[in-house]
Amino acid sequence: MAKFSRHHTNSERFGKCQICLGYIPIEYYFAIGDEINCFECGTVYFIDSKNPVKLRMSDLFIEDDRFSEMSFED
Ligand SMILES: [Zn+2]
Repeated sequence: MAKFSRHHTNSERFGKCQICLGYIPIEYYFAIGDEINCFECGTVYFIDSKNPVKLRMSDLFIEDDRFSEMSFED
């Protein structure tokens, strides 16, 4: 079904963190609206667009409590 003929090339795009100016790799499996974290500073972004890459900073800052309260449903 999926085409995996290319091995790992051109599959990655990068966003840029507005806080630490680090590059954030946008893997091919991320979709618009997905949440993504900056590896360097942990800022949470949402993907607005993949081509070109546009990231929108989340309004909620990193709060550990919030994550522990989160429940996931199938
Ligand atoms: Zn960052």
